[in-house]
Amino acid sequence: MSQTQVYFVGAGPGDPDLITVKGRRLLSEADVVIYAGSLVNPALLAATRENCEIHNSASMTLQEVIEVMQKAVAAEKMVVRLHTGDPSIYGAIQEQIDCLNQLGIRWGVVPGVSSFLASAAALGQEYTLPGISQTVIITRMEGRTPVPDREKIRSLAEHQATMCIFLSVHMFADLVRDLMEGGYPADTPVAVVEKASWPDQRIFRGTLTTIAEQLAAAGVNRPAMVIIGKVLDGDYEKSRLYAPEFTHMFREAKP
Ligand code: SAH
Repeated sequence: MSQTQVYFVGAGPGDPDLITVKGRRLLSEADVVIYAGSLVNPALLAATRENCEIHNSASMTLQEVIEVMQKAVAAEKMVVRLHTGDPSIYGAIQEQIDCLNQLGIRWGVVPGVSSFLASAAALGQEYTLPGISQTVIITRMEGRTPVPDREKIRSLAEHQATMCIFLSVHMFADLVRDLMEGGYPADTPVAVVEKASWPDQRIFRGTLTTIAEQLAAAGVNRPAMVIIGKVLDGDYEKSRLYAPEFTHMFREAKP
């Protein structure tokens, strides 16, 4: 048998329609599904077969997850491991892949729509505006998982690029302090998107000095993305790609 036995599938940010077509197909074919219950929208499980065996990994250890996979594969079953957003970002898939490699289990990865992208969609915001920033930094504050010194928010802030900060809204005061110590002016615009793409999504906009108060008043304590950068200001140069005098492979210059 040369088929893939375990698929890591990106579930998308919440809206069940934001899983990929391939991800949904695999989900509907799976014999066993292990989903990250803390963030994956359970509505996605409606796509599974009637006799599909479903596990919520929120209460499982790495070893338990691997054991479920191993048992299923031994019985020639296909497993979908459903991760929130895209599995490559804070998804803890590497340790699972390494275990599967040791066990000689064949795996594949199906990407997903990460929550930092769903947040941009919710805001109607391009992260890469000419003359403002052409770089997106994906990062987080240090929690139980350490962040290497050279990647501390303070150092990253020096670039003044667009930053999408995961897993950090509960440490908002520390985050703002680090961003300002790193050189962001106090009036830098900030947006926070709570539960992007879910029916109860909420958006907050302000500056480094004003937004903390709004978040506290609204009681933001669920999954949320913090976006910071001058791109949120709305003052930028037009893209060269669509400029009339600019030619490229697919378009001649227009007078
Ligand atoms: N792999 C996921 C991230 C998992 S880490 C992805 O690609 O999106 C969990 C963090 O992701 C949360 O703390 C929050 O910062 C962010 N997050 C996940 N879902 C979100 C959503 N729907 N809206 C806003 N932020 C979200």
